[in-house]
Amino acid sequence: MGMKDPFGRTVDYLRVSVTDRCDFRCVYCMSEDMTFLPKKDLLTLEEMDRLCSAFISKGVRKLRLTGGEPLVRKNIMWLIERLGRHLQSGALEELTLTTNGSQLSRYADDLARAGVRRLNVSLDTLKPGKFAEITRWGRLPQVLEGLQAAKRAGLKLKINTVALKGVNDDEYETLVAWCADEGFDLTFIEVMPMGVIMDDNGADDSGRAGQFISLETVRAQLARRWTLAESSFRSAGPARYFNVGETGQRLGFITPLSHNFCELCNRVRLTCTGMLYMCLGQDDSADLRAVLRGSETDEALYAAIDAAIARKPRGHDFRVGPEAQAAVSRHMSVTGG
Ligand code: SAM
Ligand code: SF4
Repeated sequence: MGMKDPFGRTVDYLRVSVTDRCDFRCVYCMSEDMTFLPKKDLLTLEEMDRLCSAFISKGVRKLRLTGGEPLVRKNIMWLIERLGRHLQSGALEELTLTTNGSQLSRYADDLARAGVRRLNVSLDTLKPGKFAEITRWGRLPQVLEGLQAAKRAGLKLKINTVALKGVNDDEYETLVAWCADEGFDLTFIEVMPMGVIMDDNGADDSGRAGQFISLETVRAQLARRWTLAESSFRSAGPARYFNVGETGQRLGFITPLSHNFCELCNRVRLTCTGMLYMCLGQDDSADLRAVLRGSETDEALYAAIDAAIARKPRGHDFRVGPEAQAAVSRHMSVTGG
C-alpha cells in the first residue's frame, strides 16, 4: 500500500504545518517583526482533518503536526483528538508533533489521552540567557517545566538541537549528558538557509552562514568523550543514528547540507493554507485548498494528491558557505521543517 513517487520511493509520511504563527522568534527561523498570513487564508481545522484523512486513505501511516508552533493554534486539541480516530482504527501508525515545548505544561496530558506517544521538542541550549537570545521571546524554565509535564504524562521525548557555531558549540557534551539523565533521545540538526531574514539594508541578517557547523565536526567533538557506534536504526525521518556506549542512548544527526539524504525521502509537507510541498528544498507545490473547497467528495482530492506525488523531485539543492543564500524563499515556519 501507499503512494509511490517517480523514483520508486514510498511516500507514507505527512508533515502538516497547522499554523505559521509562533510564540517564539528564533533567530535562524523568523525575523522579529514577522508578517503572518491572514486568518482567512488558513485551512480550518475541519478542512485539515479532511485533508489529513484523505492522505491517510492514500496510504500515509505517520503524521507529524508542526508549524510555526502547533500548540498555539486555537482549538488544536480538537484536531488532534479527531485524528486520534485513525490511530484507533489502525490506519495511522503514529501521530506526533514537533513543538518548542512552551505549551506542554498545559497540553501534555491531553496529548497522551489523544493517542500521541512521542514528541520532538526543539531546544538548542540549557543556558537561560542564551535561550532567550536564540528564541528572543522564549523562556527556558517554561520549556523545562513542559518537558517534565510530558515525561509525567508518559510521552517519549526527543530533543532537536540546531548546531550553531559560536552559539551553542560549547554545550553539545552537556546536552548529551543531560538527555541521557532525563531519558530523552537527542538529534542534532545543521542550520539551513530557509527563508530570507534581512536587515534594513537588505543583507541577510540571520547570521546563519557564519553559524554553520558541519555535524561531522560535532560528532568528532562528542567522540572525544563518548563511544559512538553507528546504528542501523532508521526512523521515519532523515537522521543517521549512533548509539552512545556509555549511556545507551540514541543520538541522531540530520545533515541536509553536508550529506544528502534525499534518496530515502518518504515524506511530503502540507502548509496551513493547504499547499503541498513535495520537497523541503524546492519551490514546487500543489494547491490542495482549491481542490478541497471545490468539491464535497474526496475523489478530486485523491487525484490532486496523486498528481502532486508524481511530481516529487529527486532531491534538494541546499548550499552553504560565503555565497549561501536562501535556497528557498519560504521560512521554515511555513513548511515546519
Ligand atoms: N515551533 C516548533 C519547534 O520549534 O519545534 C515546530 C516548527 S520549527 C520550524 C521545526 C524545527 O525546525 C525546529 O527544530 C527548529 O529548530 C528547526 N529550524 C527552524 N529554522 C531552521 C533553520 N534555518 N535551519 C535548521 N533548522 C531550523
Ligand atoms: Fe517558532 Fe519553532 Fe521557528 Fe522557533 S523554530 S521561531 S519555535 S517555529
